[in-house]
Amino acid sequence: MTTLSDDEQFIVRTVRQFVDKDVKPVVRELEHADTYPEALIERMKELGIFGLAVPEEYGGTPVSTPCYVLITEELARGWMSLAGAMGGHTVVCKLLLKFGTPEQKQHYLPRMATGEVRATMALTEPGGGSDLQAMRTVARKSADGYVVNGSKTWITNSRRSRLIALLCKTDPDARPAHQGISILLAEHGPGLTVSRDLPKLGYKGVESCELSFEDYRAPLAAVLGGVEGHGFAQMMSGLETGRLQVAARALGVGRAALEDSLAYAQSRESFGKPIWQHQSIGNYLADMATSLSAARQLTLHAAREADAGRRVDMEAGMAKLFASETAMQIALTAVRIHGGYGYSTEFDVERYFRDAPLMIVGEGTNEIQRNVIVRQLIARGGLEP
Ligand SMILES: Cc1cc2nc3c(=O)[nH]c(=O)nc-3n(C[C@H](O)[C@H](O)[C@H](O)COP(=O)(O)OP(=O)(O)OC[C@H]3O[C@@H](n4cnc5c(N)ncnc54)[C@H](O)[C@@H]3O)c2cc1C
Repeated sequence: MTTLSDDEQFIVRTVRQFVDKDVKPVVRELEHADTYPEALIERMKELGIFGLAVPEEYGGTPVSTPCYVLITEELARGWMSLAGAMGGHTVVCKLLLKFGTPEQKQHYLPRMATGEVRATMALTEPGGGSDLQAMRTVARKSADGYVVNGSKTWITNSRRSRLIALLCKTDPDARPAHQGISILLAEHGPGLTVSRDLPKLGYKGVESCELSFEDYRAPLAAVLGGVEGHGFAQMMSGLETGRLQVAARALGVGRAALEDSLAYAQSRESFGKPIWQHQSIGNYLADMATSLSAARQLTLHAAREADAGRRVDMEAGMAKLFASETAMQIALTAVRIHGGYGYSTEFDVERYFRDAPLMIVGEGTNEIQRNVIVRQLIARGGLEP
């Protein structure tokens, strides 16, 4: 927190209070009923959370990337699904800001800042999410626009998002393949069907859906930046933010698991003393706090590097890899510390255990992060001293 300005510290505190007052009391019920958190999303709009990456000239309340990370952590501490509801949206804001034409920025950003228009990214297809260059969704150019055919899957927030940043091929014959990929700014309309909401282990309340495009029409002006063939590089740049966001979500889940465990270990007694005084449980708590602190420092380091304008695919990849594996480990340890209650749906710990794996898989699996990291290690000649 100390690296943040007073204003930013105030924003993070405000989100923490929102989580404690409005989210924690209702999260278990919303989670188990798999209910979309309409009222909480409305409150997030009022708090300016959908405008955190939008400049003031478009009506946003922009914050530094470290502040964005800490706000995301606070939301995920309350319910990872809430952080998920603003993650893809922020990436699309950043894509528009960095690559959008003046008309695209003016058209979308003011309404995205308020949350009136929320956005998601559609990359993954039924045939695969890691090998994006092999995607099969194609947008063919005609005289008056594009005709899109193909399908996407696992697209979170896509039923309620009015804007979908659709990664697709505008030149399927291009070699190398990434040169034929573009991002289309797609909106719901004829030819786009949200066919079903996928059943999930965790990440409840927000929808992750299959999308089917059948002769869906988009205007020529829908290509992000107005020029075809740059979509793959644009999306990879956006994913640097996306991976920081996922790392921050993992911090939030890990912190919630640690906080619950600390409280429980002081109130639960066995053999005549609070269980934290048993060395095994004390060691668990010490290790949880240590690895969580390391994960947070790694994530904040990547966030600061991003704000310094440096390429952070390796740093964001490291943060996402380490924070998500840490969250999984902490969530499992929290189950151990809670004994039988760790397995009960009347406690929150089982939710952390179901939510944590998403951060291992989403926004590029951790196997893919390792590929990114080692490629950069070789290209940069190792780690900077
Ligand atoms: C709840 C949820 C929400 C999601 N939301 C979105 C969303 O909003 N938008 C979106 O576009 N996608 C979304 N996804 C999809 C997610 O990004 C993909 O699931 C992920 O990228 C992996 O793709 P895949 O499932 O096709 O696995 P595959 O690509 O088939 O991979 C299968 C396994 O092989 C490994 N593997 C593949 N290639 C390599 C390689 N080169 N080296 C090493 N290992 C490799 C993977 O790491 C994995 O272990 C979401 C997924 C989930 C579960």
